[in-house]
Amino acid sequence: MTDGARSATTPGRTPREVATHCPYCALQCGMTLRADDAGVTVHPRQFPTNRGGLCQKGWTAAELLDHPERLTTPLVRDLVTGALQPASWDTALDRVVAGIRAVQHDAGRDAVAVFGGGGLTNEKAYALGKFARIGLRTRHIDYNGRFCMSSAAAAGMRAFGIDRGLPFPLADLGRADTLLLVGANPAETMPPLVRWLTEQRRNGGKLIVIDPRVTATARQADLHLQPLPGTDLAVANALLHIALTEGWVDRAYVADRTTGFDAVRRGVAAWWPARTEQLSGVPVADLEATARALGTGGRVIILTARGAEQHAKGVDTVTAYVNLALALGLPGRDGSGYGCLTGQGNGQGGREHGQKADQLPGYRKIDDPAAREHVAGVWGVPADDLPGPGVPAYQLLDSLGTPGGPRAMLVFGSNPVVSAPRAARIEGRLRDLDLLVVADLMLSETAALADVVLPTAQWAEEDGTMTNLEGRVLRRRALRPPPPGVRTDLAIISDLAARLAATEATDADPAGVRPAAVAAARFPADPATVFAELRRASAGGAADYAGISWDRIDADDGVYWPCPTEDGPDTPRLFADRFATPDGRARFHPVDHRPAAEQVCATYPLHFTTGRVLAQYQSGTQTRRVAALRRAAPEAFVELHPDLAARLGIDDGDPVRVTSRRGEFRAPARLSAGIRPDTVFAPFHYAGAGRANSVTNDAVDPISGMPEFKICAVRVEKA
Ligand code: SF4
Repeated sequence: MTDGARSATTPGRTPREVATHCPYCALQCGMTLRADDAGVTVHPRQFPTNRGGLCQKGWTAAELLDHPERLTTPLVRDLVTGALQPASWDTALDRVVAGIRAVQHDAGRDAVAVFGGGGLTNEKAYALGKFARIGLRTRHIDYNGRFCMSSAAAAGMRAFGIDRGLPFPLADLGRADTLLLVGANPAETMPPLVRWLTEQRRNGGKLIVIDPRVTATARQADLHLQPLPGTDLAVANALLHIALTEGWVDRAYVADRTTGFDAVRRGVAAWWPARTEQLSGVPVADLEATARALGTGGRVIILTARGAEQHAKGVDTVTAYVNLALALGLPGRDGSGYGCLTGQGNGQGGREHGQKADQLPGYRKIDDPAAREHVAGVWGVPADDLPGPGVPAYQLLDSLGTPGGPRAMLVFGSNPVVSAPRAARIEGRLRDLDLLVVADLMLSETAALADVVLPTAQWAEEDGTMTNLEGRVLRRRALRPPPPGVRTDLAIISDLAARLAATEATDADPAGVRPAAVAAARFPADPATVFAELRRASAGGAADYAGISWDRIDADDGVYWPCPTEDGPDTPRLFADRFATPDGRARFHPVDHRPAAEQVCATYPLHFTTGRVLAQYQSGTQTRRVAALRRAAPEAFVELHPDLAARLGIDDGDPVRVTSRRGEFRAPARLSAGIRPDTVFAPFHYAGAGRANSVTNDAVDPISGMPEFKICAVRVEKA
């Protein structure tokens, strides 16, 4: 029996200890929660990914359970005073349903949109997608995961035919002879992962980091390449250029397991090292040393993260590193491969089960007739009733309240007022809605704009599953029920579906009683029931969960998808024999460097890039309210090189203003020799005057819809 099995809920009695996972990032560190008279405490737990480690965010996660700012009653905006006022659930839900009905009556079903989050459990992501498609019958649903790793997902799909962040267990990192991290800073974003990097170097491996800043991770590297933001793609092409020149390409692998190499070979011929140095600033010697370590290492792993992916050419940039990995024969080779470090807690599972505008559960495409038939069959509706694809997150947010765009939106577990690019514009769009409904545990900046706020349960108060960065499906276990006045997201979806159905009175059932009962049955609030249905809906899809039961997760420290049968194996390692393409071969795609969407100029002469700090998470709705985290990272800052600061007359700690064509934000200067003199950096976790996303660019990748968070043009002045 595993640690987790002790947590089985006894009806009528609250368990005092459960084995669960951290509520935050995609590492999903194992932790034990204990409740005693002093409150709830977090204890690290041995789990294969974190091996007993937790970062400061995980250690302090329980502080939010009884936080004084926690929402414990619905809030409804008073139509006279304009203020949010406490209300009963009946009043709040009636207001939501009346608003939805009015908007859809006036402007059609697509006038209501749904916006989800990469922190929602698989069950919630599934239920939310289903609710949008057959409860509201709108095509408009997307989620904040679009801002996280959609570029890597799209690149993985087109190269490998499948999108799983890591196609191998995390433990493989510790065995790699060469590990290349591109735009990844796990020492700050997921510190327990650094154990694997330490082990790798203890085993004699070489760690190489590509990042425009000397990050905490870069400081540990054997070699750090510091390119100009937005030139990662050119660097990858140069590395492949060198590998070709030196004869390090695995020609047998390329011939046997891939298609399309010739076009890539011709394309990278133009990226000789000296040209790449001129563009990126990475010295030729460093390019050659990196290519040598990759081309002559035994076990070699290449990982990308947001630094490479959050660009208007993010898909092509990731593709360039996938091309490099394929040319070296890495994917599917034991101990080697390409992977992406997922960011949000359920960034992986959140995009597999229907929150994405173009997807149905099981990573099915919503425009695939066979996929529609299958999922509609599970949902008990005709396939023709399912709407078609919606639009990616930024496009959706930017259309709110505009002619032809949605006039109402339901937000679950997301805070786009802080996390969206060009955030002031999106804030304005949200204000233009006829109806904004936000389900959250705190009054986030987005919730503060809402017409109705619905208080939701926290991670320690709900059961469910999460899928970590390895594609390993994990159990989230409830320690205690939600406090009085608070409901789970699943219960809210179920309640809304029933009320919507009840207002659809028919001639045969004028009171709408029967439709409400049917709707409640279709949208159960019990996560185990939802997961059982999710398994059926995903069966046969790329992300096949059919063979994954909660018992099996408990017994096996998680189960890797795809896992089609209960008595068959799961899949810790993908691609050993074939790729998930029709012919089983991986596909090269020629990609070329192109400039960032916005160039520096006389008015905006500096490159601006954003990122994270250890003590904060995403838009900070949770972590900015934890005292220890607030002390550690209380406010935004603007990191700039001392030479640049001297030129601008700025001292360390001076308040500075960062201005782009879209807006400005203010924060204290933090001088660091670890950043290029032509680039400034700020963390994006903060709201108000320190909101870095006030200046970021809303140009998006044409394939993934990923906004260009990582580079735009700004000027910096003493404020
Ligand atoms: S935030 Fe991430 S790294 Fe930190 S404890 Fe939680 S899961 Fe682990």
